[in-house]
Amino acid sequence: MMLIGNGRLITRDDGVFYDDGAVVIDGKLIKDVGTTSDMKAKYPDADFIDAKRCVIMPGLINMHNHIYSAFARGISIKGYNPKSFMDILDGMWWTIDRKLTHENNKLSAYAVFVDCIKNGVTTVFDHHASYFDVPGSLDDIAEAAVNLGVRSCLCYEVSDRDGEKKKMESIEENERFILRAQKDETDMLKGLMGLHASFTVSDETLKLCDEHRHGAGYHVHCAEGPADLQDSLDRYGKRIIERFYDNGVLGDHTLAVHCVHINKAEMELLRETNSMVIHNPESNMGNAVGCGPVIHMIREGVLVGLGTDGYTNDMLESYKVGNIIHKHHLCDPTVAWSELPAMLFNNNRMITARYFKKPLGVIRPGAYADVIVTDYDPLTPMDASNVNGHILFGMNGRSVVTTVCNGKLLMKDRKVLVCDEAALMKECRQSASRLWDSINN
Ligand SMILES: [Zn+2]
Repeated sequence: MMLIGNGRLITRDDGVFYDDGAVVIDGKLIKDVGTTSDMKAKYPDADFIDAKRCVIMPGLINMHNHIYSAFARGISIKGYNPKSFMDILDGMWWTIDRKLTHENNKLSAYAVFVDCIKNGVTTVFDHHASYFDVPGSLDDIAEAAVNLGVRSCLCYEVSDRDGEKKKMESIEENERFILRAQKDETDMLKGLMGLHASFTVSDETLKLCDEHRHGAGYHVHCAEGPADLQDSLDRYGKRIIERFYDNGVLGDHTLAVHCVHINKAEMELLRETNSMVIHNPESNMGNAVGCGPVIHMIREGVLVGLGTDGYTNDMLESYKVGNIIHKHHLCDPTVAWSELPAMLFNNNRMITARYFKKPLGVIRPGAYADVIVTDYDPLTPMDASNVNGHILFGMNGRSVVTTVCNGKLLMKDRKVLVCDEAALMKECRQSASRLWDSINN
């Protein structure tokens, strides 16, 4: 047993907060929660991890990531001069994914999951593309997740953009991985049917995906930029969410990512089908695609979670940007104070509950033992009523000093325990260099 104590404990369990709290971990699960003195007296033999008056809270959840984009950091692509979001997709992301090898996939996954551990992110929903070499690419990512001990839900982004053969390979890759994940008894690995976006998947492709998904939900970009909406109107005479509704894509296991350019009727379809929307504020700003109406969606009863879209692995950075983008966009300084922490701390937890067998994102007996410690000493009074203000303005991902996932200690005092980080980064730099050469030569 492990006892993490002597810290300010944010449980996310009905707002329960302990000024000097402790969490007791037995195997993969949380066994008990209480004051440090009570827990020490009750479990005298447990291994004690001293939080040193820092903050103990649940591991963070990233609802949308692109591990494959990691080796783009610092890249320079010959002739790349984008004028629009579509140019960014074609000139940057598709150009990269057409060259990714198994080695690139595996090493970028190791690098990203290590970064997740260092940012206190213990559950990652990833959306993968590597059209150069499709079969087995999700296994490359799964290997890194399993070996490093991070919980993940993976999918391959099906698209017509690289022709019939590659499209079929991408559907088969999802199907194969969905079946693998359905047999996985650790509850650490899940699979979804990934779709790129409406403008690169035909109705025939959607039908094939439906026939090969074995009950799994979809993970799909929806109405990210105006061109995606215009394409759907031109080719199908429907808006994107209407089109996906008509093709059976929506549902209570489907993640509709972005939803920047949707109207009220589409929000109603999302709500009615119990689909989930994932907001990625930094990515939306970076690609200049617009600001999604997620504040309105929440008011309309849509379940909205928070992701990063590969922009960062720091969920607290995503929280900070989400907090200001809506104030700025709506010219209303009162919005987002409650909606953004609700997305990150409540909704992400509720969304994962649809995929994983036991609760995540909460410190309570019976939940999975995904727990982090952040180095933060509040300069103002901290209690159950204002923890989100302290997190928003006082912490970032790099405040995380200790990360536990599924009861396993992955990082302690900023030292990653599950790999040789320096050796891994060296291998990654070499692999990224080979990728860059293959793109530019
Ligand atoms: Zn994305």
